[in-house]
Amino acid sequence: MDHPGRLKRLREELSRNRLDSLLVTHLPNIRYLSGFSGSAGVLLVVGAGAVFFVDGRYTAQARSEVKGARVVSARQPPLLAVAEWLAKKGRRPRAKGSHVAGVEGESLSVAAQKRLADALPSGFRLRQAPFLVERLRMVKDAAEIECIRKAALLGAGLFDTTLKTIRAGVPENEVAAEMEYAARKAGATAMSFETIIAAGERSALPHGRASDARIPSPGFVVCDFGVILAGYCSDMTRTVWVGKVSDEARQTYEAVRESQQAGLDAIRAGATVGEVDQAARKSLQKSGLARYFTHSTGHGVGLEIHEAPKVAAGQQEVLVPGMVITIEPGVYIPGKWGVRIEDMAVVTEAGCEVLTPTSKEFVAI
Ligand code: ZN
Ligand code: ZN
Repeated sequence: MDHPGRLKRLREELSRNRLDSLLVTHLPNIRYLSGFSGSAGVLLVVGAGAVFFVDGRYTAQARSEVKGARVVSARQPPLLAVAEWLAKKGRRPRAKGSHVAGVEGESLSVAAQKRLADALPSGFRLRQAPFLVERLRMVKDAAEIECIRKAALLGAGLFDTTLKTIRAGVPENEVAAEMEYAARKAGATAMSFETIIAAGERSALPHGRASDARIPSPGFVVCDFGVILAGYCSDMTRTVWVGKVSDEARQTYEAVRESQQAGLDAIRAGATVGEVDQAARKSLQKSGLARYFTHSTGHGVGLEIHEAPKVAAGQQEVLVPGMVITIEPGVYIPGKWGVRIEDMAVVTEAGCEVLTPTSKEFVAI
């Protein structure tokens, strides 16, 4: 991974945003910039370089993983070590005013910000930084796309287990458990979120985590799942039917499949995410089901399961080659059923490459 290149781009953003430094505290951002995969530490990025502060538990791991930043093993909490380092080395010449240090407000609590401010001498100011690293992370480089491709393939492989396990009368939890066991055996670090297996009426819950409910027949089963591999997340949804097939079930499924395809077809460099959302939504209007599509069409995915850009109504973000997004329209009729289909796709100049290899044909078990 090109950590020095990422740090260099971030430093350019710092000067554009009139920040003298950025305290990176959001762990996926730290991983993106430095390679550190542990769960505590602060990365300080300044004009001249980057320093990663860890406590003793993570010194060895940081020394072996971190690229492009100096590692400092701190005796005190890393945030206080950052303050001490800034006080010593971060001062601006008196005539040039205060050193403005950016903080990531979403991941640094108000209490922690206060501790930091109290520890800094005069001549320093803290300012909430915009989402600088998140914006860099939106566009994936070739090495990241390779990681995401592998995660998507491993994740998609779990669907075989899903199909073997789903039967009328089997608890949703059992299906999820078999998939998660298969995921770890295949080399996944973890699931990228709690597996959703939502059967029968529960399929109308867009976030129906697997429960002890037994799969009824007839009915849909929404299966939404993903894995983490080498830090990168996968995310896909397939919906299968259990029992005797009705025309209405098949028509509903096909309407969602068309909508999902319309979303994928709308992806290309230069289009806005709002236009992609609109394409998926419009397709469902033909069958009168658009009002049952109650969430956004998709989201970016990478080191985090949900990251920028948000593929939602009215969003203006312009697609750029290398962005990886999901397209996941759904139809949820309360008390009756739900259908969702989700793929991951990487944006290309002319369109997109779908990373999820799994068939979207109607499946009845
Ligand atoms: Zn999903
Ligand atoms: Zn998703």
